[in-house]
Amino acid sequence: MSGLLKCAGCNYRCIEPGDDDKGEDGYSSRYCGDCIVDKGLPSPEEQNFLTLVAGWETVADDEGSTISTDLLPVVITVEATTVADAIEMASDRLQAHFGTSVEQLYADDIERDDWFGLNERDAYLRLCAVFKGAPRLVNDEQLFTVIR
Ligand SMILES: [Zn+2]
Repeated sequence: MSGLLKCAGCNYRCIEPGDDDKGEDGYSSRYCGDCIVDKGLPSPEEQNFLTLVAGWETVADDEGSTISTDLLPVVITVEATTVADAIEMASDRLQAHFGTSVEQLYADDIERDDWFGLNERDAYLRLCAVFKGAPRLVNDEQLFTVIR
């Protein structure tokens, strides 16, 4: 039985290693079937997704005063397994969603690298949380902007 990998959901050594899953510190990158079903943990397919939650940095308004924008926090689910990849993909989504001109940010020349401050640009967004998988959201449009 020692050839099996541990499940991070239940800590049992119950997962057959695979070509794409050699295990890290004895743990599989996947959850076991019981955990997926009983605990609602992400299935192997869902684990190819990451969900980012981000809030807005302060911006300078027309008078140069530092203000908090009244834009809602954003939630973005992308098919990616690393946070760096997820941020790259989310940047493209944000650019497509908001475009170059956003009144609440007092900006009309926004580029895709500006959202998360890639390539040493000043970021508009601050990453608050990253979830593995594509969690079921309480999609309350009063609280969040969900970007697909
Ligand atoms: Zn398990």
